[in-house]
Amino acid sequence: MKRILSVLLACICILITGCQVDIDSTDNSSLDENLDKTEYDIESGVYTSSKVDIIRNFSNKNENVTSSTDSKKKIYLTFDDGPSANTDKILDILDKYNIKATFFVLGKTGEFASRAYKRIVDEGHSLGMHSFSHKYSEVYATKESFINDVTRLQEYLYEETGVWSRLYRFPGGSSNKVSKVPMDELIDYLNEQGIRYFDWNVSADDAVSGGLSKEKIVSNCLGTIDKYDECVILMHDALDKKSTLNALEEIIIRLNQRGDSEFLPITDDTIPVQHVNKSK
Ligand SMILES: [Zn+2]
Repeated sequence: MKRILSVLLACICILITGCQVDIDSTDNSSLDENLDKTEYDIESGVYTSSKVDIIRNFSNKNENVTSSTDSKKKIYLTFDDGPSANTDKILDILDKYNIKATFFVLGKTGEFASRAYKRIVDEGHSLGMHSFSHKYSEVYATKESFINDVTRLQEYLYEETGVWSRLYRFPGGSSNKVSKVPMDELIDYLNEQGIRYFDWNVSADDAVSGGLSKEKIVSNCLGTIDKYDECVILMHDALDKKSTLNALEEIIIRLNQRGDSEFLPITDDTIPVQHVNKSK
């Protein structure tokens, strides 16, 4: 009888473990309904459409993993697609409040870009990569084209700043459905190179066509952050994202008033928020 009970108990354990694996491996197929094949025009500094990088309705699988034992909520402000004509203004706001953030930049040439990369680094912010071209049709055409793009940007940023960036944000996020190459292969490549990728669990949704109002961006951010102890907020550093600037300052002021948060740059110690997590 005892033996039968032990076997029964073992079966139940196996069953429970199996269920947990299933939950963890749930895919993100519905995560990017709003993502289209819009491309960023690196020359003009604007999007040709509005849905880049917008992933709503995703469930954060790292919710439990990112629970912090510290009492303060950790806020990681991240800015994609720069440098742009807004970069200096974003940096001015961050400097005013003595906040360090993270910039996932593109490969842009010219004096303004050189200065912006250097200023980001000199002022203590983290410099991450977001592809050289941001053209989905090129970046995600083949594994080789992805590798070429990452390598080109990594080396370019090193020449410009002396920083060998090991932070990456996929254009469209890791759960994008535009890549011709299985994202697992690209994630494997980044892992092999010691490059960590970061998605986000809070989106300003400031890439929407025509731009959102400052109030809407603020509410998109502040309305979501209470779900998480560690919030990686997606915002954009692009010429046409002027309301992002006003919203940024408002978000900082409101969170400082609350006093329950601290702003941090992403570093090697930051637990990544990843929509597709291959390390599990
Ligand atoms: Zn982007």
